[in-house]
Amino acid sequence: MKLPFEANPIIKTFNEIKQYFRKYETDVSQKRIKDFHQFSKILNDLGYEVAFDFVGSLNFGLVEEYSDVDFILYIACKEHFNSDCDKKGCLNFVQVKYLILETLIKEYVKKPYKTQVVDCINLIRLDNELNKTSSIDINLVFRFAFYRSICRGVNLKILKFYHEKLMTRNDLIEQMLPYVNDVFNLFLQTNSYSLSFEKYRSRLIDAGIKIPNSVIEKIKSYLYSNQSFNI
Ligand SMILES: [Zn+2]
Repeated sequence: MKLPFEANPIIKTFNEIKQYFRKYETDVSQKRIKDFHQFSKILNDLGYEVAFDFVGSLNFGLVEEYSDVDFILYIACKEHFNSDCDKKGCLNFVQVKYLILETLIKEYVKKPYKTQVVDCINLIRLDNELNKTSSIDINLVFRFAFYRSICRGVNLKILKFYHEKLMTRNDLIEQMLPYVNDVFNLFLQTNSYSLSFEKYRSRLIDAGIKIPNSVIEKIKSYLYSNQSFNI
């Protein structure tokens, strides 16, 4: 599938470096990807439409036994059309993340590991936004386009429908593309309180785009832990 932000050179470089690391993928990474395939099957059988996009070490295939798994959780929630689904207000999120996923990891995995949902996207809400011609929640659409451009997904057959729908919205992709560099600039700032960090952040906020701090921190810590990573 074509990536939503493929036209951006930094996205292209990021993915080339990712592919390079992926050639040396660890056995633990492959095992964890398999785990999540299994979890998504079980969750789907239980009636939850879920998919995952991995950030950090699993995205690069360099997971070690002690590494946490950080991911974007995609769920289909019919209850929240104006706000994000999170542990504070969404029962579907709580059920998938705490009741099921954590139980599955304890049950099925020999050496259980920690997981963190760094962002959650409600696919029904996303679909709704992608159907609109005005008052679109550009923040939600941007996050989806960004994750689909740089992350590694599991249960792509569920995401395919939304991914393809986004690709038909050239108007939105063109509108969002200029802000991709600002997001990368946020990752490259060592200090979240620096003036330039604030400059990029406020430019994004003015455009209606807010990447959760949890995502910024995860990607940033990964970029800095790899000395060979230069973008
Ligand atoms: Zn919800």
